[in-house]
Amino acid sequence: MLKVAKFGGTSLASADQMKKVTNIITSDTDRKVIVVSAPGKRSGEDTKVTDLLIELGSAHLKKEETDVVLQKVIGRYEDIATGLGLGSEIVETIEDDLRTRLLYDTANEGQFMDQLKASGEDNNAKLLARYLQSMGYVAEYVHPQEAGLFVSDTPGNAQVLPESYDNLYKLREKKGILIFPGFFGYSKEGRLVTFPRGGSDITGSILAAGIKADLYENFTDVDSVFAANPNVVDSPVSIKRMTYREMRELSYAGFGVFHDEALIPAFKSNIPVCVKNTNNPSGSGTMIISEREYVLNPVIGIAAQKGFSTIYVRKYLMNREVGFGRRLLEIIEDEGISYEHIPSGIDDTSVILEADQLTPEKEETILKRVKEELDVDDAYIEKGYAMIMLVGEGMHETVGIASRATKAIADQGINIEMINQGSSEVSLSFGIDEEDVDEAIRGLYEEFFSTKEVLQ
Ligand code: ASP
Repeated sequence: MLKVAKFGGTSLASADQMKKVTNIITSDTDRKVIVVSAPGKRSGEDTKVTDLLIELGSAHLKKEETDVVLQKVIGRYEDIATGLGLGSEIVETIEDDLRTRLLYDTANEGQFMDQLKASGEDNNAKLLARYLQSMGYVAEYVHPQEAGLFVSDTPGNAQVLPESYDNLYKLREKKGILIFPGFFGYSKEGRLVTFPRGGSDITGSILAAGIKADLYENFTDVDSVFAANPNVVDSPVSIKRMTYREMRELSYAGFGVFHDEALIPAFKSNIPVCVKNTNNPSGSGTMIISEREYVLNPVIGIAAQKGFSTIYVRKYLMNREVGFGRRLLEIIEDEGISYEHIPSGIDDTSVILEADQLTPEKEETILKRVKEELDVDDAYIEKGYAMIMLVGEGMHETVGIASRATKAIADQGINIEMINQGSSEVSLSFGIDEEDVDEAIRGLYEEFFSTKEVLQ
């Protein structure tokens, strides 16, 4: 058995957490490749090291004072190193590293920020490797560039290059425990590039696929994935087994457990993923696999995401006009905007997109062009939309899901503005007013989970 274990920021936020992680790693010799995040929050009000690094980088770019925040970052590592009984040498190395990164060329701000942000995981990996060595284990920090983790040269949005998988397979030959920093790789030109935020999950998944692991364990700070957000629903049921597709849909729609792109490499290589709690490692967690049997309840989870806007367009006989959809989407494309859904009728269509992509100027340009170039009867932009999503394999083969869901939402007195049961076979989504989201989730949860007749 060969396992890749990834530990999230809260699992590595303090010396005590690092000790728990060390126990988990060393209690199972199959855990050979360890992927680490940067130190995360120690408590609710704390700041993640990645966020401190972003603050540091932004201040540097604006030529503002940086010493206070630089000391905060160093202080986080110092606390951990001291708590682990490591000498000051490692902290000095980290400080030197940060000061060197601040000297990096700022001409390309994205590249400058990437190499600074990545220091969070890079230094944490070095720290953990040093601690394991101090405890007498054979452990080694692995440099992503030397290991051949190559990515596209797109700052903050790296995409893995296919050749990386064969390169990473060679890590199998190395002896001992390998500590690999999450969140970044290198372009073919040798530039460091980070994945999107939360991207250490992606690194873990790529490594699991590359070394052909038998299991990818993702250690976080919850016992399992829940059927709904525990901050909204009181003690929601735990999901014991789910498919990659279900997890991806739920992550996309706001489940914070995973980065929504993260599962794809593991999925393509058919490697099971297990979500576990660093603070309760003997719990069974949630298994994510290719296929599952569903027995009683075809719905596995309910998620919601706020922050959408809709571009609504109406034109008589739109359905007959060849090329209308393409021309509309071209206008949106010209503004560099991606869209999420396009529900449509015969004379109207709505393009739903993430609101933070729109600026007042872009809105004005889009509406002006839509009105002029497409000669529409009406066009406007609506904001404050939320998408609420019911997810579950087999849902579409089960009679009555949509009617139960719409009734559950209607019973809360909530108006449904859009329903999308389009091409996805595993989800059913509703567009509603942002303000109604929590009520809608509670109504749906009550409908689909109150009897506790949950699959698994
Ligand atoms: N530290 C990075 C972030 O906060 C990446 C990660 O933790 O996955 O986004």
